[in-house]
Amino acid sequence: MVPAESVPIDAIAYEIPIRVGAFAAIFICMFVFELLSPRRKLTTSKMPRWFNNLSIHILNTAMIRGLFPVIPITVAILATEKGWGLINLYHLAPWSAIIIGTVSLDFVIYLQHVAFHTVPLCWRLHMVHHTDMDIDMPTGVRFHPVEIILSMFIKMAAIVILGAPPLAVLIFEVALNGGSIFTHSNAYIPGAVDRAIRVFFVTPDMHRVHHSVIIRETNTNFGFNLSWWDRIMGTYQDQPSAGHEGMTIGLGYFRDEKKLSFLSLLVLPLTRKKIRNLINPVRKERNS
Ligand SMILES: [Zn+2]
Repeated sequence: MVPAESVPIDAIAYEIPIRVGAFAAIFICMFVFELLSPRRKLTTSKMPRWFNNLSIHILNTAMIRGLFPVIPITVAILATEKGWGLINLYHLAPWSAIIIGTVSLDFVIYLQHVAFHTVPLCWRLHMVHHTDMDIDMPTGVRFHPVEIILSMFIKMAAIVILGAPPLAVLIFEVALNGGSIFTHSNAYIPGAVDRAIRVFFVTPDMHRVHHSVIIRETNTNFGFNLSWWDRIMGTYQDQPSAGHEGMTIGLGYFRDEKKLSFLSLLVLPLTRKKIRNLINPVRKERNS
């Protein structure tokens, strides 16, 4: 048996090309898929939304590269070298450690997402993502820069506590970025195929429920990659009550697309609008 410490850390040298390549491949595939087989008719102009969302993504990518000398994968290398974290307490086979690390990080991101819907200040950041009045691929990168920074710290803390191997972190990061493009896409996947994928993974139909304007639906289907956490934690909703074609996407109190420009989105968390109704604890809202 090969000790967990000998996981091929050299592969991490290719982190950026692997991540960029996987993201570009998934983006191009889903772009063609959306064009050939769209799920819903879009209700707002596509170009301004794509410009806003992709601009935020470019800003976030530049910010992370500029601000963070240490990124999750370097934290994982350090944790493995030093023997930090729960996984390193046990002498697991390398692939067991990688699977446990990847799945555990996906659960952490599920919990983080629930927290961003529950803690008022976090919701103010995360609601930028939910203000998109249509949902398609670039919605998957529409996150406020401060949410991205907070998420980086949460991920790095989780990696240290778990002792997640570097390869687990690489797989998790590729799945998180690529999966976000897939789950936010406006691609039509036939019901039987959707159900088969959904046994393990979040599908676009499953995640679309989370972008419903109906609050009790917004607070369901928090999962990013694995569909299990919502089923286990009781936050799963199979379909939107109004159907995928009939449902309204976004937030009830942000319906003017002219007020959702790139710069407006950056200052949106400072809005003075009353947003109390969306930041109640999940359980309370689900009963409403
Ligand atoms: Zn959300």
